[in-house]
Amino acid sequence: MHVFVTGGAGYIGSVTTELLLDAGHRVTVFDNLGRGHRAAIDTRASFIEGDLCDRDAIFGALQTVQPDAVLHFAAFALVGESMEHPQMYFQNNVVGGLNLADAMLAAGTPKIVFSSTCATYGQPDLVPITEEEKQLPQNPYGESKLMFEKMLDWYRHIHGIQPVFLRYFNACGATERFGEDHDPETHLIPLVLRVALGQRDEVKIFGSDYATPDGTCIRDYIHIVDLAAAHICALEKDVVGAFNLGTGTGHSVLEVIEACRAITGHAIPATVVDRRPGDPARLVASPRKAERELGWKAQCTDIAAIVGSAWRWHQSHPQGYNPEVSAIA
Ligand code: UDP
Repeated sequence: MHVFVTGGAGYIGSVTTELLLDAGHRVTVFDNLGRGHRAAIDTRASFIEGDLCDRDAIFGALQTVQPDAVLHFAAFALVGESMEHPQMYFQNNVVGGLNLADAMLAAGTPKIVFSSTCATYGQPDLVPITEEEKQLPQNPYGESKLMFEKMLDWYRHIHGIQPVFLRYFNACGATERFGEDHDPETHLIPLVLRVALGQRDEVKIFGSDYATPDGTCIRDYIHIVDLAAAHICALEKDVVGAFNLGTGTGHSVLEVIEACRAITGHAIPATVVDRRPGDPARLVASPRKAERELGWKAQCTDIAAIVGSAWRWHQSHPQGYNPEVSAIA
């Protein structure tokens, strides 16, 4: 297959591109390099530098490439930022998405696998969360993802596009070549590992008074290679609709920090601070539908192994992808 990967210079897009190429597919990456990294684009892929908000650019790219399918990762994905600048999220994630969907129609591209999120569920009534859970996002980030799911659903009914929505839980871990490098970094595991690298003094634990066994929030941490593999299943199977991607098991913030201490041998000081607004106590996926219909199951479910892969990458890339820039900053 020839696969067109938007956001192929980002965290999940880079690893999925690597796996697609390893599996013998052709890949064209489309990325504006705004938040992604040139060094994260697999050198075996073709690369088009462009922005989804530039309608001519995405129409031209799809018309030229004529891919068999689109994997759509390119998006803004920070909850806190979306609460301060909602316009950025509706512009990039919704308007950019609309341009992409229209360009697919014009080029005759039949299938899209879209990076959606458990943030579309908001505060779930039932955990583990199934795809039937109500979708009431608590922030513009989740809302922008849900809006694009709905737009694609209408395009499916009216134009026959085949959309798959992969609702990720907490992506983490790395391959030997590609890992997590966000600026600013807000995610738990890379922040904890930066303490072990000596780049930060301590970890802040956002609240220890939740209704969970140790009082800290529980999340479903899913390895990036498992996420990438689910995209390949979604491409190869004749499926449409939504799938939750998680392990089905949750880990608390304290358990993650403990796992990082064990792997790194570093004491990793941690201080409890106030809750972070908008954090639900417990988000854990029911991955049963993905197992049944995609034939996919998370393979790397041991939190120590997940953290270990991230630690190896951070050790080999202590300044991420841009050593000069990071060193100056
Ligand atoms: N978290 C924390 N300290 C940090 C970053 C995150 O305690 O410095 C907590 C956060 O409140 C959440 C969990 O770690 O319960 C995972 O947060 P992350 O930002 O990695 O992912 P999210 O669940 O928000 O998508």
